Amino acid sequence: MQIYWTKINKIIEETPEVKTYLLDCPEGLTWEEGSHIHLALEGFNAGDKPNRSLIRHMSISTLPYENSIGITTRIKEQCSEFKSTLRNHKIGDEVAIFKIHSNVPLKREDKNVYLLSSGVGLATFRPLVLDYFDRADNVNQIHSLNIDSTSDFLFPDVFAPAADKKFTVQFVDNRKDYYEEVKNLAADKEGLFYIVGSDEFLVQNIEVLREQGIKPDQIMLDKREQQRTEFFPVELSM
Ligand SMILES: Cc1cc2nc3c(=O)[nH]c(=O)nc-3n(C[C@H](O)[C@H](O)[C@H](O)COP(=O)(O)OP(=O)(O)OC[C@H]3O[C@@H](n4cnc5c(N)ncnc54)[C@H](O)[C@@H]3O)c2cc1C
Repeated sequence: MQIYWTKINKIIEETPEVKTYLLDCPEGLTWEEGSHIHLALEGFNAGDKPNRSLIRHMSISTLPYENSIGITTRIKEQCSEFKSTLRNHKIGDEVAIFKIHSNVPLKREDKNVYLLSSGVGLATFRPLVLDYFDRADNVNQIHSLNIDSTSDFLFPDVFAPAADKKFTVQFVDNRKDYYEEVKNLAADKEGLFYIVGSDEFLVQNIEVLREQGIKPDQIMLDKREQQRTEFFPVELSM
């Protein structure tokens, strides 16, 4: 496994609690939309075993043409050792990244695509939308629905409605409106539904979509195949 040590080149305050860390791209490193990495902080590999409290999965919120690896995360006042250490990082500090993989590349199957996210889950979708803006081939249209109880919605420059690009956006700040809207979107029985958020959020979205007749192969999760099956237990017929 290759570990890349790289420097923070910019820190963007997206909202009072959410920051994007832009990292220098190690030479030769590339990725596709929907990718995530392992982000690790200094000292994570100092002992015999990796120190898990200094490692987290993070989506890459940028595309390679932006020349930086973007990591967007919410850091609350009460936070983990990982986040409190990251919060103290400054431009020029080094972090390690490894194991890049995408579970949620943009499917180009001539379907309508629905991006359902909670909070910073939107970061996973930013590169999918940029990729679509760059090349809309075989994607009918994209709609993004994001719930954020803080009402400080992320990436307003990218997540803005663009009729000419067949891109629509909805932000809501409460669960009632959110799930009502998911139900409405599920009226599209051929659509592709991407979901990013906590496991509990995934379970609730899947339940609503399945009730409306959406099939598992129309639902994309940021999970490897093995973990994905836990969200779609085989229904045993007695
Ligand atoms: C494929 C994948 C991609 C991911 N992409 C991203 C991403 O792009 N961005 C991202 O942010 N996360 C992402 N995650 C989730 C990420 O890996 C972390 O699990 C998540 O950010 C929580 O981080 P944390 O455990 O450091 O906890 P924190 O975020 O610090 O804390 C979690 C919750 O516990 C509370 N808490 C923590 N410590 C304390 C304390 N001492 N006292 C009281 N309350 C406390 C916090 O207030 C918060 O509500 C991804 C996960 C996966 C699997």
